[in-house]
Amino acid sequence: MNKLAVKNNSLSLDDDSLSSVDYITSHFPVIIIGGGQAGLSVSYCLKQQGIAHHLFEKNRIGHDWRSRRWDSFCLVTPNWQCKLPGFPYSGGDPHGFIPKDEIVKYLEDYAASFDPPVSEGVGVEQLRKNDEGVFEISTRAGNYTADQVVIATGGYHIPSLPRMAERLPADIVQLHSSAYRNPDSLPEGAVLVVGTGQSGCQIAEDLHWAGRQVHLSVGSAPRSPRKYRGKDAIDWLDEMGYYAIPIHAHPKKERVKAQANHYLTGRNGGHEIDLRKFALEGMKLHGRLADIQGATFAFRDDLKANLDNADAVSQSIKNMIDQYIAREKIEAPVEPQYQPPWTPADDSPPLDLLEAGIRSVVWATGYRADFGWVEVPVFDGRGEPSHQRGVTPVAGLYFIGLPWLHTWGSGRFAQVGEDAVYLAEQLMKAASHKARPG
Ligand SMILES: Cc1cc2nc3c(=O)[nH]c(=O)nc-3n(C[C@H](O)[C@H](O)[C@H](O)COP(=O)(O)OP(=O)(O)OC[C@H]3O[C@@H](n4cnc5c(N)ncnc54)[C@H](O)[C@@H]3O)c2cc1C
Repeated sequence: MNKLAVKNNSLSLDDDSLSSVDYITSHFPVIIIGGGQAGLSVSYCLKQQGIAHHLFEKNRIGHDWRSRRWDSFCLVTPNWQCKLPGFPYSGGDPHGFIPKDEIVKYLEDYAASFDPPVSEGVGVEQLRKNDEGVFEISTRAGNYTADQVVIATGGYHIPSLPRMAERLPADIVQLHSSAYRNPDSLPEGAVLVVGTGQSGCQIAEDLHWAGRQVHLSVGSAPRSPRKYRGKDAIDWLDEMGYYAIPIHAHPKKERVKAQANHYLTGRNGGHEIDLRKFALEGMKLHGRLADIQGATFAFRDDLKANLDNADAVSQSIKNMIDQYIAREKIEAPVEPQYQPPWTPADDSPPLDLLEAGIRSVVWATGYRADFGWVEVPVFDGRGEPSHQRGVTPVAGLYFIGLPWLHTWGSGRFAQVGEDAVYLAEQLMKAASHKARPG
């Protein structure tokens, strides 16, 4: 079995370093898998409690923010929600939205602030639990064991592309939103963006602002107001207690997990995204993609319904805020009722990519999780881990960072820290239970 050399909290496989290591081990009381905000938060909490552990990160700390977001990406959530345990946002713009490089720096600074015991560049390839109840962890750097394991690998692993993407003519460049960087990285000409979740809308805006002719296939994602009646909608919802609602108390219960994120942006200080305004400025909107035949894309005739639905959700958020303001007798500026500035035709005719000069397609069609390497019977019929606030029915196995693990903010900066504090308590209780004689 390979052994990891642990020195000054970092791991090395370099044989030359073995002469100077402090100790060599292959067993850890706790192993954390994944070094994003979720894994780091758990490591911080365990370090505070003096619980020995080790963290394996396949790439580098903050990998997803650094390598899977476009250049102009800014947080959609306000900076004050960056409140990882022991490291709240301390910059001068709590109601702003930091850009990608600052998000990465926030995570790097967080790690530097407490020096987690991490090995970067070491992906866990297999996780099993043996007959003695010990977890076995296989990595490129060797095999390790642990009493307890926290899986903090996020929920966005594999770009989700419709199989019909395979039918696209080879001379049209196609890429997933996680691979999109900036307008100049795409071939000249018009661009089709498929999908109007947060990524699709923001990428369409990025291209539109750069002067590219954008075609956008609009799905059923809802939209959110940004600033409303003097405050960011997120600030209002926070004040109203929405983010404190645990999933089991949410009116939609588990179904809320499947809900697409509301589209809006933090770019240029933050603003809402109204696709109708883009249409007025020349962006070509289409319904949901239905089929591809050669270079011809067919769309459903649902553009009007999708835009109306997005507006209705935005209006319902405004209504909730209005009711709260009235109930609490808060002094807040009044805003005019939203009037749709553009209305589409009832049908969405097919689009010939070549005729429209479209040379590239960006698939902003989301992600799926891949826990295929977790060979522990902990998954439900949909392949999702079963858990109560991250604590699985398999003793010693935990998840963190998943959307709606506990609350709205569990899969975001906002509340992953609260989940980490909770899980660290569970890990500590389990460890002390195991240590108790007899
Ligand atoms: C486009 C987009 C925009 C978002 N915008 C916001 C926002 O504005 N505000 C907000 O709060 N949240 C936002 N989120 C949600 C969320 O904050 C991010 O997805 C965040 O990256 C989740 O952090 P995490 O630590 O749970 O997972 P990740 O950041 O995905 O980190 C997981 C880490 O695990 C590593 N890993 C994976 N598999 C293994 C393995 N087998 N072994 C070892 N390591 C492994 C990866 O390399 C990665 O570094 C956004 C998400 C997306 C996709």
